Amino acid sequence: MKLLEERIEQDGRVIGTELLKVDNFLNHQVDPALMEAMGQEFARLFKDEKIDRVLTVESSGIAPAVFTALALNVPMVFARKKQSLTLTDDNYVADVYSFTKQETNHIIVDKRFIQAGERILLIDDFLANGQAVQGMLEIAKAAQAEVVGAGIVIEKTFQKGRALLNEQGLRVESLARIKAFENGKVIFAEA
Ligand code: 5GP
Repeated sequence: MKLLEERIEQDGRVIGTELLKVDNFLNHQVDPALMEAMGQEFARLFKDEKIDRVLTVESSGIAPAVFTALALNVPMVFARKKQSLTLTDDNYVADVYSFTKQETNHIIVDKRFIQAGERILLIDDFLANGQAVQGMLEIAKAAQAEVVGAGIVIEKTFQKGRALLNEQGLRVESLARIKAFENGKVIFAEA
C-alpha cells in the first residue's frame, strides 16, 4: 500500500537490524486517516470471506482492527495481555512470546466474545516471528471458530512469521513488506 510505504519512509525509525519504530502514526500517536485507509484496504482484500468478527491483540493492533471492523460492519475484539493470571473457565488463553519485549505473555479472550462456527479475520500491526498471530490462531481453534486469514500492517519478510503461518495454510495479506534494514534505511520487498 503506497500511502503506508511513503509514511514508513517519512516517519519510520530503524533500530538496529531488526526493529522499526512507527510510534508517531501507529504504535503511540495514531493517524486516524491512515488507519481508516488501511481498514478499508483490509476489508477490500477479504471482502469475499463472509467475516463475522475481527480479532487482534492489544494494544497496537486495535487501531487498524477497529477500522477494518468498521469497514466490514462487524464487531472487533482484542485479546488482552496478562503477565500472570488466575485462569478461569471464562476465558480462552494462549501464550505469546514477544519478540520486542523478550517476554512471554498470556493473551486472553472472554469466551462470550468469540463463538463456535464464526469466521474470524486476524489483524496485527507487525508480523515478525508470527507468535502473536499463532496465539490468536490457538484461541480461535479453542473456540471452534474458523480463521479466514491474517491482515498485517507491516511484515518483515526476513523473519520467520510468514513461513510459520503459510505452513498451516493461513492466508496472510500485508500492506507493507520490508525485506531488510540497511544503514538505517527501509528496503521494501517487491510487490
Ligand atoms: P511476532 O509475534 O510476529 O514475532 O511479532 C509481532 C509483534 O511484535 C507485533 O504485535 C508487534 O507488537 C511486535 N513487533 C515485532 N516487530 C516489531 C517492529 O519491528 N516494530 C514494532 N514497533 N513492533 C514489532
